[in-house]
Amino acid sequence: MTKRIKSNPLHRRRFLKRGVIATAGLALEAVPVQSKSFKASQKVAGYIERDHPESQMCLQCHAFIPPTDCTHVEGPVSPWGWCNYYED
Ligand code: SF4
Repeated sequence: MTKRIKSNPLHRRRFLKRGVIATAGLALEAVPVQSKSFKASQKVAGYIERDHPESQMCLQCHAFIPPTDCTHVEGPVSPWGWCNYYED
């Protein structure tokens, strides 16, 4: 004689709901990791560091984030530095 086990639809629904929530949570955690690898290296960008102001420098660039960061190039960057991605 075999005993049949009935599956409870409420348990299955709760299990699937928790799986969807866990998957969404993992996907949200992965987003910052992808955005970190977006920046170019200083070598690829042709970044140069200066110790004096020039007509084009990081301090005047739209990508510059004070005091020493940049949205396009891996930091730190000098406010007087410059690279090929410079934007007025
Ligand atoms: S010049 Fe280059 S390194 Fe400097 S802020 Fe602009 S993009 Fe960044």
